[in-house]
Amino acid sequence: MKITNVETYLLDVPLRQKAITDSQTKLESVEFVAVRLDTDEGISGWGFNWNYTKGTRAVQAIIDDTYAPKLIGKDPVFYKNILKELHYTNHFIGQVGVTRVGLCAIEFALWDIKLKVANMPLWKYLGPVKDKVKAYNTDGGWLEVTTDELVRDMTALVERGFDAVKMKLGLPDPREDYERVKAVRKAIGDDIKLMVDVNTVWDLKTSIVWGKKLEEFDVYWLEEPMNPFDKKSHIELARRINIPIAVGETIYTKYDFRDYIEKGGVAIVQADATKLSGIDEWLDVAALARSYNLEVIPHTNVQQKLHVQLAAASSNVPMVEYCYESIADIWEDPIKVENGYYTLPEEPGLGCKLTDKILKECRIG
Ligand SMILES: [Mg+2]
Repeated sequence: MKITNVETYLLDVPLRQKAITDSQTKLESVEFVAVRLDTDEGISGWGFNWNYTKGTRAVQAIIDDTYAPKLIGKDPVFYKNILKELHYTNHFIGQVGVTRVGLCAIEFALWDIKLKVANMPLWKYLGPVKDKVKAYNTDGGWLEVTTDELVRDMTALVERGFDAVKMKLGLPDPREDYERVKAVRKAIGDDIKLMVDVNTVWDLKTSIVWGKKLEEFDVYWLEEPMNPFDKKSHIELARRINIPIAVGETIYTKYDFRDYIEKGGVAIVQADATKLSGIDEWLDVAALARSYNLEVIPHTNVQQKLHVQLAAASSNVPMVEYCYESIADIWEDPIKVENGYYTLPEEPGLGCKLTDKILKECRIG
């Protein structure tokens, strides 16, 4: 089999729910780069990656200008060699960031070809350990809503069958964060797992002071309290508070995860295959975490369909994040969540092809 053509699509997909706000971002749409690799045997592989802001055109340029010419004529069965060659094409201008985001999209497309040849979905190919995956929900916990609205939205998720929910923190006054957590815990009761996510805006002092105060609400994890590049402060924080620390959605290599894990700076490993260089590196991180008896609970927003499959094939992934429900139907054969559990896809392949409608109506390049 030989790759004969590479096609890229730059997309801007509007959310159909009210604007989503955390301590860093106010979001009304998500950009995607979708990649299609055609082969001489009629099988096409689809990959993708995504971004919160208007920078994804740079990813498309990296793929079109530097990766695509090297892909033509290659046999996808040697995908590991292909990816190594592509990595060294651009490593002087970026080990992570734009170059890796593009490389990851191609990794997914190469996996899609492999899975279509095998005629299996990813989770069955990898060897599942479960046939349904628990979901936790973040869609009720955004920062822009009032405390009353927050309590209403979080309670509604519990009434829908979610027994694990997450809310955003990181308001200018941490006392307000504290009062919001207090109100939510009171409303949802003690039996529901409650997680909080700061999206990196606290410093070490704030994290220690307010992390300690939040202990009284039995917070299941404190997510991204500080800049993730500051491993030292996370290790210090982990020694000082009695809430597990979750990081991973802005950690981009297995080597950084190794350093966090070895030194005790993370308790919940939130590895995201779209932020690493794809499925292979995610599996490496999951295996590393398993050897330290740590759980991996992947970060997701648009890419649940991928992580649900990885979770089904991993013994240390107890649940997967669910949010951005208003655009859950952007994928062909979208997965659903019922009574707090994801269904798993049955179609052969990776299952991460955006619908033709999205590819046509949301294309901007
Ligand atoms: Mg987060």
